[in-house]
Amino acid sequence: MSEALPRYQSILRGQASPSFQSTKSIQAELIPGASLEAMWKAHSKAARARKERSSPSDSSLLDLRIAIAESMLSSCELCERRCRADRTSGKRGRCGVLDAKIASHFMHHGEERPLVPSYTIFFAGCNFECAFCQNCDISTDPDSGRAYPVDLMARRLENLSEVGRAGFKVTLVREWGERAKNINWVGGEPTPNLAYVLKVLRETRSNLPQIWNSNMYMSEEAMRLLDGTVDVFLADLKYGNDECASRLSKVDDYFRVVTRNHKLGAKHADLLVRHLMLPGHLDCCTLPVLDWLSKNVPDASVNIMDQYRPMHLAHEHPELTARVSHEEYQAAIRHATDLGLRLL
Ligand code: SF4
Repeated sequence: MSEALPRYQSILRGQASPSFQSTKSIQAELIPGASLEAMWKAHSKAARARKERSSPSDSSLLDLRIAIAESMLSSCELCERRCRADRTSGKRGRCGVLDAKIASHFMHHGEERPLVPSYTIFFAGCNFECAFCQNCDISTDPDSGRAYPVDLMARRLENLSEVGRAGFKVTLVREWGERAKNINWVGGEPTPNLAYVLKVLRETRSNLPQIWNSNMYMSEEAMRLLDGTVDVFLADLKYGNDECASRLSKVDDYFRVVTRNHKLGAKHADLLVRHLMLPGHLDCCTLPVLDWLSKNVPDASVNIMDQYRPMHLAHEHPELTARVSHEEYQAAIRHATDLGLRLL
């Protein structure tokens, strides 16, 4: 079997730079006041041509991506809820997020082994309404964090990955006394905060791989902006059907949207899929999810998680008041092994 997370590992070895750094050197036409449609045309052209910027004053593909993401905020379609809320004039869409608010950010040791330690940035607010949310204190209140200036965050990321003499070498961190392996954008959900993340990336010289830790319900447009920007999609695949998704997360058309984005993610970056098992959902969710992964993204790394705890509004759904049984978990592992999935 080939190496897991090859792009990510090559950045850690100093053999490649994080993708977002390349988007700074690709030239893109950015005309002040251009319509969103015109900017998407310029985006297609720049992404196709991949022509290097001849001077720092030329606009870059990353500049253009920021302009597009900011323009989208006036009729928000960053995720497939497609609320079209004008967030720039204080209107809230379904996620309720206006400006990016950061609930916490710290060196996280609880992620998958290849990712630890991971400098994790938790945004407040989410576009899902999962009855069993394990992070409900921040996901249900989009104002529960604080605004964190772009330049300050950009400098913070540099403090985590001092640029070494060798150029892209990831070196030790002063503040935390240990090496951060990556920057991990999560929530809640990072998607409503895409413009903020892109702006931080434009300002930072950090050479750490970027992880997009998401429920993967972003729109195709948001996926285009992430293509070549992030290095790893740390992607939830929660449900194997739309009925469970609608009942437990109040989200429509789940399976089509999220599997489309998993396929795109695997094409553009490394893909590490997380499946949080839910009690009583082995046949309707876990097994179909594993089947889909083996047929469609066989090179992805997969983490089957059994640590579910009844939280938040789980008591409203009788099956969610239990824990995942040992038998359910073993059946999932057996099935994944039979399918030849790359388990983490
Ligand atoms: S991110 Fe999604 S839920 Fe939030 S305002 Fe935009 S389209 Fe609506």
